[in-house]
Amino acid sequence: MSRNQELFTAACKHIPGGVNSPVRAFKGVGGTPVFFNKGKGAYLWDADGKQYVDYVGSWGPMILGHAHPDIIKAVQLAAENGLSFGAPTETEITMADRVCEILPSMDMVRMVSSGTEATMSAIRLARGFTGRDKLVKFEGCYHGHADSLLVKAGSGMLTLGVPTSPGVPADLAKHTLTLPYNDHEALMKLFGELGEEIACVIVEPVAGNMNLIAPTPEFLHAMRDLCTRYGAVLIFDEVMTGFRVALGGAQAYYGITPDLTTLGKIIGAGLPVGAFGGKREIMECIAPLGPVYQAGTLSGNPLAMKAGLAMLDLISAPGFYDNLTTKLASLLSGLQARADAAGIPFTTAQVGAMFGIFFTDKKVVRSYAEATTCNIEHFKQFFHAMLDEGVYLAPSAFEAGFISSAHTDADIQRTLDAAERAFARLVR
Ligand code: PMP
Repeated sequence: MSRNQELFTAACKHIPGGVNSPVRAFKGVGGTPVFFNKGKGAYLWDADGKQYVDYVGSWGPMILGHAHPDIIKAVQLAAENGLSFGAPTETEITMADRVCEILPSMDMVRMVSSGTEATMSAIRLARGFTGRDKLVKFEGCYHGHADSLLVKAGSGMLTLGVPTSPGVPADLAKHTLTLPYNDHEALMKLFGELGEEIACVIVEPVAGNMNLIAPTPEFLHAMRDLCTRYGAVLIFDEVMTGFRVALGGAQAYYGITPDLTTLGKIIGAGLPVGAFGGKREIMECIAPLGPVYQAGTLSGNPLAMKAGLAMLDLISAPGFYDNLTTKLASLLSGLQARADAAGIPFTTAQVGAMFGIFFTDKKVVRSYAEATTCNIEHFKQFFHAMLDEGVYLAPSAFEAGFISSAHTDADIQRTLDAAERAFARLVR
């Protein structure tokens, strides 16, 4: 038995499903999850000592690759001065100033410890600010696991086929209105009927939790216009897309200004961090300035702030995103060419440094319904063939992929050589 298998058996004894977050369990692809014990640059090493080229990057944060020396140094230095004070620090000011400078839609920002906390707090704030209860979300978008947001959600919910999580009271779920992604007409119709009752629209401005689906311009513009017209709060959930599709996130990429933004992943460089912020008049409703309550013992944690700031410095370098985007485009066109040569129906999607691969004969996938009709069997076989070859992709057909600045041309070539063999192994 491999060390990975031994660890999985041991993990299942006291950890539900052997994992601390569901998608890690490989339910979407079958087989035993890989236990990692080291990451450096573009590579991960598992418990059996096997090396992988990593395209998950801890689900997004590792845009510089693993264990970047500057980040590690920042964390070490911070740790020597104490791990947590539960009181203000100067570093939090630097972080807030920096985030508001990079994302001009944000006048004020509050740090939290996860993406889930960020979105949960943002929707509470939107409800408190508007005095309304209804929230609009889109099928296949995942915004963390707060009760109101676990309705027709993406990521693990989609992988496991759970429409609305048991445990979410029906009385709460009834306030969550779900529409198809990229369907601006459905959004207009809904606002026409219930616009005055809608507190907020929350959206992944590039959907990364049902594979990767780019927004249509009409879709983003319609939600901006409707929220303004009806006094609803537009929340861009940029936990994944922030500092990933561009330094300024999807709002910079598409030129749309939300009222509130949620952040996570990259902002903490791999430590547990999230943030939410936006217009001053809305943010001033948060305690202690206003009545909407929100708090956190570890919020603004000094290690996480220092790690995040070191990250923001490095990714602000001129040309950083151009390099990543060009490198990723060459990976995706190489994959497409190899799939075409093998006669496998396949397409890819890219926004900045985020990507999706789809086993389908459609050229572009635009919705949850289309994403779920792709050939999942082919994905599973491809995933396992790539894993054998030492390439680690997200273990689900409904997750996006991520590239880092540590991936070299040689890593891309190694991935393409592996893919050529993997495509040839697929059962037609
Ligand atoms: N929003 C989005 C768009 C996400 O992708 C995620 C996590 N993948 C979350 C929120 C929740 O973040 P966390 O897992 O840190 O709670």
